[in-house]
Amino acid sequence: MSLLNQKTVKKKVLFTGIGLHSGKQVKICVKPSEPNTGIVFKRVDLKENNLIYPNFMNVSNTSLNTTISNNHGVKVSTIEHLMGALFGMGIDNALVEIDNEEIPILDGSAKFFIDEILLAGLESSNQPIKIIKINQKVEFKNGEKFISIEPSKLSLDIDFQLKYKNKIIGNQRNRINVYEDDLTDIFNSRTFCLYEDIQTIKKNGLAKGGSLENAIVVKDEDILNPDGLRNAKEFVNHKILDCIGDLFTSGYRIIASVNCSQGGHYLTNSLLRKVFEDKRNFSIIEIQERALPHTLINRSLLRSIA
Ligand SMILES: [Zn+2]
Repeated sequence: MSLLNQKTVKKKVLFTGIGLHSGKQVKICVKPSEPNTGIVFKRVDLKENNLIYPNFMNVSNTSLNTTISNNHGVKVSTIEHLMGALFGMGIDNALVEIDNEEIPILDGSAKFFIDEILLAGLESSNQPIKIIKINQKVEFKNGEKFISIEPSKLSLDIDFQLKYKNKIIGNQRNRINVYEDDLTDIFNSRTFCLYEDIQTIKKNGLAKGGSLENAIVVKDEDILNPDGLRNAKEFVNHKILDCIGDLFTSGYRIIASVNCSQGGHYLTNSLLRKVFEDKRNFSIIEIQERALPHTLINRSLLRSIA
């Protein structure tokens, strides 16, 4: 397989489950698509105006999920874990058909997306991939929360820190190299919330499908899920998964170093908007196979693909 050529899924991959926020049963089908078409969502329950592009400019809601909408107000929500999985596997092009308004939450992580898509296999094209290279530092702050992106040689590094009063979550921090490190813990980490926030979240019409099957719930110093955590840094690791998925709304893989404290969907989206406002901040380069001694696809995933 030509690693630096654009890739899609080898055959269609189906997922069914409920939407975390809508609580509705939903079916999605990730289908192969042509080079240079990118990731496209298609609402197959609608006859017209049903294409939605997961571009940062189309992000219309960042409250506890990333929602994208088209000009006709047609939307798809909670795209971030699927987008994170596609980014990690180096899938450049795919059509995601969906028969409702929210991607299924499955187990709250990207585990099933990764497992099933790897099982189906990837198809390489003869078209080179495109990469966004960050040329100068850009920062977005919101009170104590911040996110920054700056140039890096060949990697995408993400350094993420949480600051929770809750002792179990606390000041968890992790730093990963997206293309080089084993990302199993990142992809397997589930979404989470504090028990005391559940009522407010539900009052706001969200998390109708939420349960211990698809989210970690922390109550004081206890984790309510009977099997506990999947890895020691599951909270911050999940935030890194969200960040990877949200970064993919840039359209391409990225070479940069990202540093974030207490961020989330809103901060990542605001950062991308700021980056692409000024052409001096970035370059979009086409990567030719021989020009780079690098895969730009996560190495441990590559072993499963090869
Ligand atoms: Zn998430």
